[in-house]
Amino acid sequence: MSMKRARAGHKYIFVIGGVMSAVGKGIATASLGKLLTARGLAVNLVKIDPYLNVDAGTMNPIEHGEVFVLDSGLETDQDMGNYERFLGRDLGADDYMTSGMVYQSVIARERNLEYDGKCVETIPHVRDEVIARLERAAKKSGSDVSVVEIGGTVGDFQNELFIDAARVMHLMNPKDVLFVMVSYLPVPGTVGEMKTKPTQNAVRLLNSYGVQPDILLARSTMPLDKKRKEKLAISCSVAPEHIISAPDVASIYDVPLNFERDKLSDTLLGLLGKHPRQSPDLSEWKEFAEHAHNGQGKVKIGIVGKYFDTGDFVLSDAYISVIEAIKFSAYAAGVKPEIAWINAKDIQSSAQPVESLAQYDGIIVPGGFGETGIEGKIMAARFARENKLPYFGLCYGLQLLVIEYARHVVDLKDANTTEINPKTPHPVIDILPDQREKLARKDYGGSMRLGAYPCTLSKGTLAHEAYGKEDISERHRHRYEINPVYVEQLEKAGLVFSGRWQDGNLKEIAELPKSVHPFYLGTQFHPELRARPLSPHPLFNAFIEAARERSRAR
Ligand code: GLN
Repeated sequence: MSMKRARAGHKYIFVIGGVMSAVGKGIATASLGKLLTARGLAVNLVKIDPYLNVDAGTMNPIEHGEVFVLDSGLETDQDMGNYERFLGRDLGADDYMTSGMVYQSVIARERNLEYDGKCVETIPHVRDEVIARLERAAKKSGSDVSVVEIGGTVGDFQNELFIDAARVMHLMNPKDVLFVMVSYLPVPGTVGEMKTKPTQNAVRLLNSYGVQPDILLARSTMPLDKKRKEKLAISCSVAPEHIISAPDVASIYDVPLNFERDKLSDTLLGLLGKHPRQSPDLSEWKEFAEHAHNGQGKVKIGIVGKYFDTGDFVLSDAYISVIEAIKFSAYAAGVKPEIAWINAKDIQSSAQPVESLAQYDGIIVPGGFGETGIEGKIMAARFARENKLPYFGLCYGLQLLVIEYARHVVDLKDANTTEINPKTPHPVIDILPDQREKLARKDYGGSMRLGAYPCTLSKGTLAHEAYGKEDISERHRHRYEINPVYVEQLEKAGLVFSGRWQDGNLKEIAELPKSVHPFYLGTQFHPELRARPLSPHPLFNAFIEAARERSRAR
């Protein structure tokens, strides 16, 4: 890319991590976006993942957390979910890139003879591709500012390419590019004092790449004091007013409000030379964030899943959008959600009796793949149905609801999904012919129904009542479907298919009428991916409402 080609005027803020990972760089990035939006600017948030996977779809959720699917169908990192939730809007496929994706397009171009016989190299060709993608994302989103999170930590071999792309963009248009370092300041238990040295070293390391941070976000368990702020300022060459204290907070939604205490949006706008709205409009957000702290009463929600045990630790990252969706609806209803993890394997082996589910006000069976704990989830669905316990099935949770109904109400013995038992006499959940071809070719990366699809709701159903309209659009990520062959039989036995995708002739929602059960509903799509702080998801609202009724009746 020649220096001339770069488009001046559009602003970029690069967020880079120092010292260690998992200190909230994603939330910091989302919060910067939130603050700039609150000042009246149009913002797109970009995540760069330095791994070679072409998308996040093939990664294990226990290790990598949830796969977040965009409208376009792109499978991305869970940070993109936080971005959409903080910004309150959909992001595009161009707002996400991985090293694999970038290299793949450069290599495809090379194979296509598009480099005129030149030697194709990481620098400049791959770096130029990174820059071109960032410019395209900015253009397509029509934003004023792009906030770009570079995954990993400074010093990682893997993200050097991206830091270098940022350096070159700064070189081309110094006034348009800012660097924010999110660093960690440990407070060692034995010392009891906050230490700045690791951050000093991280900044020096970033300097060695030719990049100087403009802003430091000082993550720690406690607030940054004056003495350490001055020390960091002088050793890192960052103005003290550009060093923002970022202590741990009870709720991630407090982070933008906390940043604003140090007047971060003023600093950003000053450095970017932008002067829109005088003070940030965060009133709705503040109100929402306060609900997180002061709900009246509570609802106990059990999540029956499998992606949480790793060694001796329980991780909930695999279900982050589900958790946040529950919170938004609970906050909106003015109640505190109490979320419990129920391992489906324990239900299946009776290590935890299925009857113990009665203690919850509602249960959710979220998305999943494969055989582990499957019978435990089916037992949970049956228990919920027979005991009028609110049940919300998301994707796999819908498929298992249908299997349960087929087995125990329609009496189709051994009904199953062909994902688990390809030889089942009753494949009530089955794969569609074109997906089957892809699987036969072992083309797993492209074998799913992904992204937003329209869905038509039937009047007089729970789903229609919740959404208050007939036409909706929701995001998918699955290979299997409700087998059309069994629909009539299931309907005759009382199951209502309240949502359908007309073009594909597929059923997307199954439910029991309210006269039979307070809330028994499953969706083939993932409604949790569309839940936002200021616009909670209608189906989660209805589920929480049913759970609240149950908790009141106790
Ligand atoms: N394993 C199921 C399928 O592939 C469900 C997927 C999911 O829950 N996301 O269809």
